[in-house]
Amino acid sequence: MIKKVLIANRGEIALRVMRSCREMGITSVAVFSESDRRSMHVRYADEAYFIGPSPSAESYLVIDKIIDAAKQSGADAIHPGYGFLSENAEFADRCKKEGIIFIGPSSYAIKTMGDKITARKTMVDAGVPVVPGSEMITDEKDAIKKIKEIGLPVMVKATAGGGGKGMRLVTKEKDIVSSLRAAQSEARAAFGNDAIYIEKYIKSPHHIEFQILGDTHGNVIHLFERECSVQRRHQKVVEETPSPLMTPEVRKEMGDFAVAAAKAVNYSGAGTIEFIVDEKLNYYFLEMNTRLQVEHPITERVVGVDLVKQQINIANGLELELKQDELRQYGHAIECRIYAEDPENNFMPSPGVIRHITEPLGLGVRHDGYVYEGFEIPIYYDPLISKLIVWAGTREEAIARMKRALYAYKITGVKTSIPFLNRIMETADFVKGKYNTNFIEKNSEFLMFPDKHEVKVEDVAIIAAYVDYLDRLNLQADVHSKNGQNSWKNCGRRLSFNRF
Ligand code: ADP
Repeated sequence: MIKKVLIANRGEIALRVMRSCREMGITSVAVFSESDRRSMHVRYADEAYFIGPSPSAESYLVIDKIIDAAKQSGADAIHPGYGFLSENAEFADRCKKEGIIFIGPSSYAIKTMGDKITARKTMVDAGVPVVPGSEMITDEKDAIKKIKEIGLPVMVKATAGGGGKGMRLVTKEKDIVSSLRAAQSEARAAFGNDAIYIEKYIKSPHHIEFQILGDTHGNVIHLFERECSVQRRHQKVVEETPSPLMTPEVRKEMGDFAVAAAKAVNYSGAGTIEFIVDEKLNYYFLEMNTRLQVEHPITERVVGVDLVKQQINIANGLELELKQDELRQYGHAIECRIYAEDPENNFMPSPGVIRHITEPLGLGVRHDGYVYEGFEIPIYYDPLISKLIVWAGTREEAIARMKRALYAYKITGVKTSIPFLNRIMETADFVKGKYNTNFIEKNSEFLMFPDKHEVKVEDVAIIAAYVDYLDRLNLQADVHSKNGQNSWKNCGRRLSFNRF
């Protein structure tokens, strides 16, 4: 049985994995780069190993360094988190070779699902519906011919794609060549591989994915869907479960296909089958993510399962105790990704020192973060600060709870996406549950250009109360000190910190 786990990651996901380890009586080992010396995941871990300079290509992505740290610490397993080496088949192989358990699927499953063309073929063979599209294409002329055959609009996609990179929507004939070249050069830069393929563009699509778990005994179950259609540049911003679009019949069908997809690659561990779904609820396999997802907490809350614990049990060779027929979705959960970025300045990353943070608390709120006052968000990594997850009995209550939690969440020192997320919660289409992946674009006027002078009634009340408090404080200061001015100065500073 696994006794010591090295977490080959950083930030909130490293902490999240360590928390489950601690509950299971497992020792956790952190690794950290130069700019993560003071990171919370290093402080929380039982042991920590330095793995080099800040750029991830010189630290978190260097297989030798991670393996060395694992050996030095005597860890018997490695959890890769998400990103970095989590979907790297060579890393999974190397762990096996070194006699270290990789908490994740086989390198065969990672490889098969990591290449979008092989994945599509595997799904077709397993009878899972895929988006109509082409084989792998390397020649521009072939690509143009295929696009004309499929008919515009199409998506040009990198076979090695991920994170929305190497993907272009083509709607007009005149844009075909420039889009092909742009997708290829982006893919070359991001993945060192510019092979592409063409997919029919599904109009007004939804991104709906199914969480699956497979064990090493051939059992596979799904833990229902997540609706991830609130996207910016093909990147998820808000996720919720259950999906407002779903019906019990379609949920059952898609869930069965998700299980079949995972079985097709003898999948063991936690994974996600992503589908693209049109307005009439026709669904097509998009891709499989062979790791824990950023948005896994909403499934954990609604299904009542600790997915990291499940991953570790599976890696230990245990049979799944969860039975498909016994699983239910209880209530409604929403996740907002809180980024250090400036929505009013084209979402530019906003790294820097956290001056003040008040984390939201209370009934039904989970906050998976890692920053603290004085911590400097490094420029080298994804600027995710935290994930705010709420749960409530109904969707309506969950939205109200998210608004309450976002309102209570105060961060200064860096710009954040909190005001933008707040507006999403207030957008009529979101409130009604009538949205697809075009949501942000469609509502961009309201979402991106908030009236800077708009002041809410609650804000006015708080400001009034604060001014009253300052007044009284100053009176006291006049009585008790010879220099009442200082109190005013201090209070003034606190006032601006809290951005009232
Ligand atoms: P990546 O692996 O880069 O994340 P995906 O294939 O998962 O790329 O697609 C990301 C997003 O792009 C989807 O959630 C969806 O919004 C959009 N998308 C991808 N393929 C299509 C398609 N054929 N039609 C419409 N939208 C698509």
